[in-house]
Order: sequence, then structure tokens, then C-alpha cells
Amino acid sequence: MVEKLHEVISDVAQSIVLNCSHPNYAYMRVIFPISGGGGEAYLGAGHGTVGILYFLMKAIELIPELRLNNQIREKLGHSLGFICKLMEENNGDLPFVEGDTSVARHFCHGAPGTIPMLLQAVETFPDQEAKLVALAQLAGEATWRHGLVLKGNGLCHGIAGNGYVLHILYRFFANRTDCIDLKVKETNEKNANIWRTRAFAFARALYLPEVQ
Ligand SMILES: [Zn+2]
Repeated sequence: MVEKLHEVISDVAQSIVLNCSHPNYAYMRVIFPISGGGGEAYLGAGHGTVGILYFLMKAIELIPELRLNNQIREKLGHSLGFICKLMEENNGDLPFVEGDTSVARHFCHGAPGTIPMLLQAVETFPDQEAKLVALAQLAGEATWRHGLVLKGNGLCHGIAGNGYVLHILYRFFANRTDCIDLKVKETNEKNANIWRTRAFAFARALYLPEVQ
């Protein structure tokens, strides 16, 4: 059963890379919505490149042989590099589409949705750990700086989604407080505290009548 599941996941991953590759673009992209015309090649976690990257890296975590697939490795590397560069140029924010001057503040399109992907990328590209962790924190700062998204409490574009990614940052650093290097331990504890406090502030807002 597990082998069969791995086979299906592997097929899906290869099909994603094939269908999201375009000769004119180095990064993987998909037009959303797919039918009906008027779609855009969004970059975010909900409908675009960041979401594609996250699920491909999750597939690699589950099926390490996929890492040996040259096409997957190459497309992942180029797409991740492209997203990181855009975020660096935008102080941790992510534009809706390539060339856009406006940035989104919610999980599905903006900086918040990049955080789970960037921290997953630490597992896939350990040689880029320092850059990826710094960028995930920069995206967290952007999420915090923009404040509450007043579109309800949902994950996609609401308070819970943005609070959730701040909590993911907390968990990432909290899981790294058990280390021998005292200086690193102290920094990780400090970061864990910052992100925990901020995630909690967002969670509290879910219950405040004045922001609902
Ligand atoms: Zn959304």
C-alpha cells in the first residue's frame, strides 16, 4: 500500500514539474483559474509557485529518491531562487505576479504563505539554511508589520492564516533550542519567544469583537 502511494505521489510530482514548466520562464508557474480565461500566473501559496514548491518539497521529504530526479531538482532550485530574489527585493513581501508593484498581505498570495515553504526548503536545501531562515523571518516581519487582515478568521486570507505562520516560525525555533552552542541556543530561544508572542497576539484577535 505504501509503495503504491509513493508511486502515485511520485507520478503527481513529475506531472506537476512537467505541466508547470515553460520554455520562457525559469520558474514553475500555473495559470489560475485554469479555465474561463483571464487567469494569472500567481506566485503565492494558494494559487501559484510557492504552493507548487511546498508540495514538491514535501513529496521529496516523503520519497527521497525524487531528489535524484534532475528535472525536479533543477526546476525546484530555479523556482526557489526566483521567489527568494523577489522577496529580498521587496523587503520580505511577495508580489501577486511577476512584475507587479503591489504586494499581498495574506496567506494565499503574500509573504505569510511563503513561511512554511521557506522552512521546508531548509530540509531540501540545507546548504542554503542561513539565507532561507533569514528570509522566513523577514516574511514573518512583513506579516507582523502589515497587521491583521480584516477579511474574517480563515486560513487563506484571514487572521488565523497569518497567525498560523507566525506560530510555524515559533515552532521552528523552539525545536532548535536544545543545542550545545550556547550562543545559538540563546538566539533560538529569543526568536521562539518573539514569534510565540506575536502568534498569540493574532490568536487573541480572533476573539476580539472590535476586529470582527
Ligand atoms: Zn485567499
